[in-house]
Amino acid sequence: MELIDTYGRRINYLRLSVTDRCNLRCSYCMPPDGVPKLAHGDMLSYEDLFRVARESVALGIEKIRITGGEPLVRKGLVGFIWRLAGIAGLRELVLTTNGLLLGEMVVALRRAGVRRLNISLDSLKPETFSSITRGGDLRKVLDGIAAAEAAGFPPVKINMVVMRGINDDEVLDFAALTLHKGYAVRFIEYMPTIREEGWSSRCVTGAEILERIGRRYPLLPLVGADMAGPSRNYRISGAAGSIGIITPISGHFCGSCNRIRVTAAGFARGCLFSGSGIDLKQSLHSSDQGELRETLRRVIVGKPGRHQLADDDTPVAMSQIGG
Ligand code: SAM
Ligand code: SF4
Repeated sequence: MELIDTYGRRINYLRLSVTDRCNLRCSYCMPPDGVPKLAHGDMLSYEDLFRVARESVALGIEKIRITGGEPLVRKGLVGFIWRLAGIAGLRELVLTTNGLLLGEMVVALRRAGVRRLNISLDSLKPETFSSITRGGDLRKVLDGIAAAEAAGFPPVKINMVVMRGINDDEVLDFAALTLHKGYAVRFIEYMPTIREEGWSSRCVTGAEILERIGRRYPLLPLVGADMAGPSRNYRISGAAGSIGIITPISGHFCGSCNRIRVTAAGFARGCLFSGSGIDLKQSLHSSDQGELRETLRRVIVGKPGRHQLADDDTPVAMSQIGG
């Protein structure tokens, strides 16, 4: 079944957040003390998350990304993934993580049915990594990436949020990671979602990132794959992996956006920046079995044409929306 929204976009991708909790406090994502946590009872149960996933697939969703907060901190995740992987019609089940707990969980995740991993990694220097994440241990993430390869995962995707004066001096080092291994390194424009101090000087456009890499390495454009995200992809001539540029700010990709999101609190959003979304809890608890599917259909059809991230928006942590 194909699901087309009001703007003619085919919607086939669900980002499903399983928790708002996180074992890091990245400076661009959360304030130092974190954000108010959802009460346990306000978080969707795995049963409810499963029903959201199943109904979404029945509507035409083919790819689900598990995200958070940090998905690996929620107890029982592996069992939940086993169930998701069994949904007929789901073609791709992938997961985004900060990688800290990968070492201990990666074999179970692979067995349960995760097909690919995205790892958020913003620095290859231990001190810078610790400073950005407010205390994270780079070694654990690198060990987690190695463990993923050993467990049989394809080369991971690495997401780097580029911030001027903080880690932009490492853009070429990240690009070089793709030379000999099949990593897909994605450079993401920093979004001032929480307006932390000094944010306005941090933005580096995708064009500048590309230009810097292009000055050092010859870049060949790649054609987007089916269900590919908003990344514009390139290969350094002769490299094993690929690099990609994601430009939510300078060149919004709303025209080709194929996704919806469901937060851990059960709010469905057609757009990352579209207010608080539609609360699915009522539909989940309705005696009318068809109501949940109908509500999800409304979210998809009602997806806004483009995002409206404005300077006066209320700050919101990505950990709460499932970035
Ligand atoms: N905790 C997991 C992780 O870090 O991969 C999954 C959730 S995290 C919210 C998902 C992605 O959102 C990460 O790749 C992170 O870098 C990105 N993100 C969070 N805040 C962002 C911001 N202000 N600008 C750009 N990307 C951001
Ligand atoms: Fe946690 Fe991911 Fe946000 Fe960092 S980006 S604080 S790892 S949710």
